Formats: sequence, structure tokens, C-alpha cells
Amino acid sequence: MDCLFCEIVRRKIPAKVVYEDEFCLAFYDINPQAPVHVLVIPKLHIESCDAVTAENSDYVAKIFEAIPKVAAKAGLTGGYRVISNCGADACQSVKHLHFHIVGGVQLSERMG
Ligand code: AMP
Ligand code: ZN
Repeated sequence: MDCLFCEIVRRKIPAKVVYEDEFCLAFYDINPQAPVHVLVIPKLHIESCDAVTAENSDYVAKIFEAIPKVAAKAGLTGGYRVISNCGADACQSVKHLHFHIVGGVQLSERMG
């Protein structure tokens, strides 16, 4: 399977890793949209939020358990936003579920 984020999980493509456990990997986005921009991904290939099922949702739960640790490691003491783009209308460009953690600045009230 030709998936960029699976390749990062396998360490075939380098990434600046912030946090890792059995279920997920967090690394800095290559094209940051905020002073701090980290991606958290499951180690299992799940295409998007639309592909979350009862069989794989453990990975999603583990990601949300990891997010406070990721945020602390990235120095996000003032808060942060968690975003997941799903499908074409949301401009999802990498078809492996990921959560953007953005912060390090006062974010806009607008989200879309
Ligand atoms: P999305 O548009 O929601 O699918 O987000 C994909 C994100 O992956 C974008 O913010 C990209 O900048 C980021 N990205 C693409 N390739 C890499 C890479 N090799 N390492 C880190 N982040 C990447
Ligand atoms: Zn993948």
C-alpha cells in the first residue's frame, strides 16, 4: 500500500517525532499553519474519520488519550485546536486519519 503516513510509521520516511506509543505517532507538520503544528496519527491505516468503526475505534480513543501528552511535549500551555479534515470538501490531502494539533498563538474564532 502506498501511504505516506504508513511510511512514516515504518520510519521509511523521516519525521520529527514528538510522541509515540503502541497505538499512535505524533510528529511536526512539514508545512506548519501555526507556530506549533503537530499531526497525531494511528499506527493502523484508517483512511479518515469516515472509516472509523467499532473494530478500529480503540486507536482513535488512544489518540485522544495521547493528545494531552503531545500538547504538553509541544509546549502548548495556553490551549490548542484539534482538527481532522475528512474527504474532498474538507481538503483532506493525506488519506490516512490524522489530527492536526495547532496552537502556540491566539487562534481565530472562525474555523471555516
Ligand atoms: P490534510 O490536508 O488534513 O490531509 O493534512 C495533511 C498534512 O500533512 C498537511 O498539513 C501537510 O503539510 C502534512 N504533511 C504532508 N507530508 C508530510 C510529511 N512528510 N511530514 C509531515 N507532515 C506532512
Ligand atoms: Zn496509511
